[in-house]
Amino acid sequence: MCGIVGYLGGRDVYDILIKGLHRLEYRGYDSAGVALETPEGKLNVYKAMGKVSNLEAFCRDKDLRASVGIAHTRWATHGEPSDNNAHPHYSEDGNLALVHNGTIENYKVLKDALMQHGVSFHTETDTEVLVQLIEYIKLTNGCTLIEAVREALGQVQGAYAIAVLEKGHPEQIVAARKSSPLVIGIGEDEFFLASDATPFVEYTKEAVYVKDDEIAVMRRGEPLRLLNLKNEETTVDVTELNLSISQLEKGGYPHFMLKEIFEQPATLHDCLRGRVVEHGRRIVLAGVMDNEDKFRAAKRIVIVACGTSWHAGLLGKYLIQELCHLPVEVEYASEFRYNNPVIGPDDIVIAISQSGETADTLAAIQIARQKGAFVYGISNVVGSSIPRETHSGTYIHVGPEIGVASTKAFTGQVLVLTLLALAVGHLRGTVSDQQVAELGGWILRLPTLVKEVLKLDKKIKHLSAIYTYARNFLYLGRGYNYPTALEGALKLKEISYIHAEGYPAAEMKHGPIALIDADMPSVIVAPSDHLYDKIVSNVQQVKARGGSIIAIVSKGDTEISKIADHVLEVPVVPECLTPIITSIPMQLLSYYIAINKGKDVDMPRNLAKSVTVE
Ligand code: GLU
Repeated sequence: MCGIVGYLGGRDVYDILIKGLHRLEYRGYDSAGVALETPEGKLNVYKAMGKVSNLEAFCRDKDLRASVGIAHTRWATHGEPSDNNAHPHYSEDGNLALVHNGTIENYKVLKDALMQHGVSFHTETDTEVLVQLIEYIKLTNGCTLIEAVREALGQVQGAYAIAVLEKGHPEQIVAARKSSPLVIGIGEDEFFLASDATPFVEYTKEAVYVKDDEIAVMRRGEPLRLLNLKNEETTVDVTELNLSISQLEKGGYPHFMLKEIFEQPATLHDCLRGRVVEHGRRIVLAGVMDNEDKFRAAKRIVIVACGTSWHAGLLGKYLIQELCHLPVEVEYASEFRYNNPVIGPDDIVIAISQSGETADTLAAIQIARQKGAFVYGISNVVGSSIPRETHSGTYIHVGPEIGVASTKAFTGQVLVLTLLALAVGHLRGTVSDQQVAELGGWILRLPTLVKEVLKLDKKIKHLSAIYTYARNFLYLGRGYNYPTALEGALKLKEISYIHAEGYPAAEMKHGPIALIDADMPSVIVAPSDHLYDKIVSNVQQVKARGGSIIAIVSKGDTEISKIADHVLEVPVVPECLTPIITSIPMQLLSYYIAINKGKDVDMPRNLAKSVTVE
């Protein structure tokens, strides 16, 4: 996780770095730091535990002059969050400063070897090994920084995006990446670098996504150079960014999460645009159309993902099984990668990740490719690793999601999976023209229907006050709304720190029912679908044990509304589209409960947005 930023050029370096860190704070926020090199070549490093604002307070009376600098906001993997473990890390003689995003798997072996050569270590991080190793190689071989970085990276196993400054060389930054994101912004006589393009979008639209095993050399007055680990120059592909500054601001909302919840009518519309055409009669999904033979021939689909994306994946299973009659397995990417997955050329693997950088999902993709499967990616961040590592795929196009708890990306993922299931079902003959037209018409109405759901905002805010002090929650659903119940529970856990369990409603009687009492409320997701009658009896079972019930039901519901303590009515839609509609009241409920508890909803403790570590 974590965010790194760098700048070389004529603007106020400190200012750009701090603003950039704020933009990247969603990626990690347990400590932050900057390294600033003055025009005379003096290297100053300032670090502080906690959020970027703590670093700013710490820096208030410091020498902030600089013509080049690098900065970091950390999400600790090795060593507790502390001032000392915060990045940038110095080399032994203080000549190098380095920031790192990722983990060094073989840091212990490297550290022991360096210690035997007399190098001493001052932090508990894996990162310090990198900076010490680079310096050790530089001194022993008498080589340049670029050569030392190349040689050191040859010895390192793990994931990294790094940026290094050298004392006495205010004219350059050396950076590199493997499995962690790194993008360079090219302006006029200036370079920016960052974990994603948000820190520099207002300064330049020209971006270069550094690839794995590439070293980037930024020198004042010279064009950007990229080298591979064999010291060969590689091509610099410049991408035009299409991201606006207003997308990165809160737009009058108190939190990004609330803004993102309310953006969903617009983001679903953006996700649909050009994909559901001819008034809903045709689904145009380029990733499917360009690979028709693969989707026709597939014998099975395996979906790999983590967290909220895994819940979207589980919905993908229900959608694909219903509409394409294909068997689907859904795996946590972190399990898939280590459990000897049996897959081959007849399988299609669908990898889902909002950031497109999730380390476990990337590893799962590599395994799937090695075994000959066709790999399809679903992600939000254009130019991220997953779209590059997969054979084909679809962007969800919901715009930057800054709130750590995913909302609009979830509904975007579910929508893309719905379109994919429809397109593939049509291709394979399991979905008729008429079914496409019918569902397509409903899909086009989703943005308006979601607007309708958002009108529940006030009611949910009021309701949240009643449940703020619950210690445990149960979320129940069946069929398409079992995965949404899981997602509802996850949302509550993530931002309010209330223990919540999602369960298939019928499974409750095999264990969790023992937990139900007056102190354990249940959220029951029960729109009018083919399992409605079944879930009515589950609702009664909860009621009979004294549990209070918040029910999410379809407009006009009569039965459950009579039993539940609180009812949230959502518009009637076809069964396979209910998750997009029913998940929204649960997003709002978690948001307001967390706000009532005074929690930081955009940056919940221990979490980070983009999980680029195993
Ligand atoms: N592994 C490094 C650390 O624990 C970097 C973590 C990060 O990416 O923030 O300091």
